[in-house]
Amino acid sequence: MNILIVGAGLTGSTIARELAEEGHKITIIEKRDHVAGNAYDYMDETGIRVHKYGPHLFHTNNKRVWEYLSQFTNFIYYRHKAKAQLKDGNYVPFPVNAETIEKVGRDNVLDIFFRPYTKKMWGKELEELDPNIIKRVPVKDNRDESYFPNDTYQGIPDEGYTVMVEKMLDHPNIEVRLNTEFDMVWMNYNDYCFNSMPIDEYHGFVHGELPYRSLKFHKKVIPMNKVLPSTTVNFTHDGPYTRVTEWKNMPAHGNNPHASVLTFEEPCDYRDNDMERYYPVKDVDGENRKTYEKYREMTSPKMQFIGRCGQYVYIDMHQAVNSALQIADKFKKEYEV
Ligand code: UDP
Repeated sequence: MNILIVGAGLTGSTIARELAEEGHKITIIEKRDHVAGNAYDYMDETGIRVHKYGPHLFHTNNKRVWEYLSQFTNFIYYRHKAKAQLKDGNYVPFPVNAETIEKVGRDNVLDIFFRPYTKKMWGKELEELDPNIIKRVPVKDNRDESYFPNDTYQGIPDEGYTVMVEKMLDHPNIEVRLNTEFDMVWMNYNDYCFNSMPIDEYHGFVHGELPYRSLKFHKKVIPMNKVLPSTTVNFTHDGPYTRVTEWKNMPAHGNNPHASVLTFEEPCDYRDNDMERYYPVKDVDGENRKTYEKYREMTSPKMQFIGRCGQYVYIDMHQAVNSALQIADKFKKEYEV
């Protein structure tokens, strides 16, 4: 079959590769000028690798996903650690662990680390959001400092995420077209479409807009070898920024001794950031999900929405790849070549 895939992020690229290997002819269109979606990274002018859309840390318990991606990259061992900066300027381990609790008191954890951060991140109070959002971050009673203490497989692609995705897409049955937006005309040349564009936009917003949070990234080059005590530092203050990342603290991110590159994240509504949709908003009542379902029901059987925007889900990279592998498995069963 001729298959159109809209969006060359991890989901679209995994489906593209799986179905190309099955003999299907894939055209993958990408509106940006690069592949890898929000996992895109590049070497900046200081020789330091920067993740353009914020820190991407690969972690999973899913052996199939780990082995799948390991065909396209070597993962370098890396266990992500972070700190939070308190109002007095001191750093404590984050996610909260026994040391953090000793320093701030157990009863203060929610008010210090979660309320202000969540308010600026989502523009909403904790109580208005699905509790699973903050459950992403563990609170530990031991002295472990890992951000993802329960994940067996963790690492950084040795040549970066962009190269990993380029290798996924390097197949004779895959044609990649950058700087190309979806247009209905593409459906005239394809039998089926996997679409990662925002589902509400595709359907002309007839049931209203699905809300998203976005991030403005502020990149600074500092003339110092190292600046932060950890790769990321989360802020507990009520200023506009949520966290900062010092890129060279990750392996294979360059080691210029004269400079360090830091990126500060400032959350905002996606309409205030050029319609860049990063985080679907999981409200506590599930209203946004209901709107999403109305859009899904309107969709033609020749099109399947995929990924964070297409499925309106707050998923990590490993979940995106897992979901893509399952979508491809199902498609292969339905349409054997
Ligand atoms: N969170 C928080 N304080 C922090 C870090 C996270 O309140 O210092 C909450 C916040 O609501 C955030 C969620 O936990 O949106 C998930 O955090 P995570 O670090 O997993 O977010 P991501 O890396 O996906 O932006």
